[in-house]
Amino acid sequence: MRRKIVAANWKMNGSNDLADALVGEVREGLAKLDNGVEVVIIPPALYIARVQQLVGERAWLGVQDIAPWGEGAYTGEISAGMAADSGCRFAIVGHSERRELFGETDAVIADKVSQGLAAKLNLILCVGETLHQREAGLAVDVVSAQLKEALKGVSGSDWKHIVVAYEPVWAIGTGKTATAEDAQAVHGAMRSVLAEMGAPAQDLSLLYGGSVKPNNAAELFAQPDIDGGLIGGASLKASDFLAICEAF
Ligand code: PEP
Repeated sequence: MRRKIVAANWKMNGSNDLADALVGEVREGLAKLDNGVEVVIIPPALYIARVQQLVGERAWLGVQDIAPWGEGAYTGEISAGMAADSGCRFAIVGHSERRELFGETDAVIADKVSQGLAAKLNLILCVGETLHQREAGLAVDVVSAQLKEALKGVSGSDWKHIVVAYEPVWAIGTGKTATAEDAQAVHGAMRSVLAEMGAPAQDLSLLYGGSVKPNNAAELFAQPDIDGGLIGGASLKASDFLAICEAF
């Protein structure tokens, strides 16, 4: 059976006070939740230790990015091994903000995937098309190419550490969500591409991300190939995030 996953990407938001209040409330809410959803909290790296103390055992911890290299002279970077050593079980790679603002290519993302797998992290690989590409009818082509490049080094039992998040770039932080049908169409296509690549595609969790809110989560999660969500803005409000976790 596929894992149902809801992951909270705080992005570069938060403070010690916010972590205390938000994680305290989320922890209480999760204690009452028994729908089998796995929850991942992904704060800025500086708050990981604090969130780890607060969150208890009901949620996993994640890191928003990892370096494409092992340890060494890379000022400002965090290695996959350090993330694992600090208690993280998940890492986001290839978020569109990093592709766009930091010029991350699929080749760099493939190196991050290989570092993350070596450290036994679960990787949430983000893929998605721009508005221009969608309007040109290229959504599935773009996403397929991103999957093939970023995951070209994955084989065998490493596939069980791969989670894919389809995040149309035009839907992130904009309040615009792909319709459930449009999201399902891309998710179905992604599963076919993953199968062609030799992945156990029916077993992989495919998340949707892009302005997921309490009022649209249930319809998205009801789609046959959508196994959960990567949540940005709504993960910063405990009641919204918990409502999304309950939406299965
Ligand atoms: C994200 O950052 O991965 C994301 C989906 O953000 P938002 O939910 O705010 O659109």
